[in-house]
Amino acid sequence: MTREGCHKLVVLEYPPQDGKVSTINVSREVVVSAGALKTPFILKHSGIGPKEELENFDITVVKDLPGVGENFHYHPTFPVSFTLNDLDEYDDSWAVAVEYLTFRIGPLSSTGLTQVVGVLSNNDTTDEWPNVQLKPAGYQSGCAPGEIDALKSSGKRSVSISVGRQHPGSRGNITLRSSNVTDKPVFSGNFLGEQEDVDGLVSGVNLALKLAETEALKAWNLTLSTTTLSGCADYHYPSDEYWACAVKYDTAFGHHYCGTAKMGNSSDSMVVVDPQLRVSGISGLRVADASVMPQVTSNNIAAPVMMIEE
Ligand SMILES: Cc1cc2nc3c(=O)[nH]c(=O)nc-3n(C[C@H](O)[C@H](O)[C@H](O)COP(=O)(O)OP(=O)(O)OC[C@H]3O[C@@H](n4cnc5c(N)ncnc54)[C@H](O)[C@@H]3O)c2cc1C
Repeated sequence: MTREGCHKLVVLEYPPQDGKVSTINVSREVVVSAGALKTPFILKHSGIGPKEELENFDITVVKDLPGVGENFHYHPTFPVSFTLNDLDEYDDSWAVAVEYLTFRIGPLSSTGLTQVVGVLSNNDTTDEWPNVQLKPAGYQSGCAPGEIDALKSSGKRSVSISVGRQHPGSRGNITLRSSNVTDKPVFSGNFLGEQEDVDGLVSGVNLALKLAETEALKAWNLTLSTTTLSGCADYHYPSDEYWACAVKYDTAFGHHYCGTAKMGNSSDSMVVVDPQLRVSGISGLRVADASVMPQVTSNNIAAPVMMIEE
């Protein structure tokens, strides 16, 4: 304990490797930067986290911080598929591989349509706080499907516009499975747990459909795919009711995990780090990664995370 009543981190201990525990003496500070999925796991195993959960696993409580592992969220993302007036071709071939290896150009050097991403606002927000991301995908180098998929092909190239919910209200958490550091944590996403996120994705789908109706895209005969999800067969396609059902079946994570050691001021009991990224009540310990974001940013998060870390 330091004079201010804070715990001071003095020794860092590694999980045993070859049966041996290694330690490092800490003279200044430790910065935990293991990402939003693993940072709360490390903190909890170090005795920093919700008291009740730590006690359940007989982990000595160093600091009761109920916010560690909570506020877990990301950008839920739902793809809307279209076909184009273009042949259903697959770009991977020996010629394409040679082109890439020789000149570093061609389909293998490209991320296809994903090079253009739009962030827009729908009815429940303003242009300053856009909450829908439209991310096209297609013309990406991909392996040709097997014979069965080839038989299913409509003969037309398909592209998609993925709709991202940029300010989700749903929150999940990351909890320990046991006191054993080699056991993986339990991830509870709870994405689309709040109706506002389902509604937000549906309004984003409608923006994507509107985009497909623009003159520029009409020139490509961007046509909504007729393939529907069997689990939503009870709903008229393509109605809002159908999309509200479909987003529950086919929404992906968006990979932008964050929030599990959130930054804020001490009046919020769920805050884990202060604006200087110092862990509450522990001297000599900071968190610098996506965990500290109280609310995910309005677009992809890698650049903001690097800014936080730097
Ligand atoms: C498939 C995928 C695609 C993505 N695409 C994009 C994109 O196009 N644009 C974008 O902006 N973002 C993208 N992201 C998100 C972006 O990569 C992450 O938000 C960002 O990397 C998070 O940074 P971080 O430092 O918080 O965590 P990470 O980058 O995950 O870094 C954590 C590091 O800690 C290490 N680590 C974990 N546990 C331990 C341990 N116990 N001991 C030692 N080391 C440990 C990990 O190995 C890792 O190197 C993508 C993510 C994924 C998974």
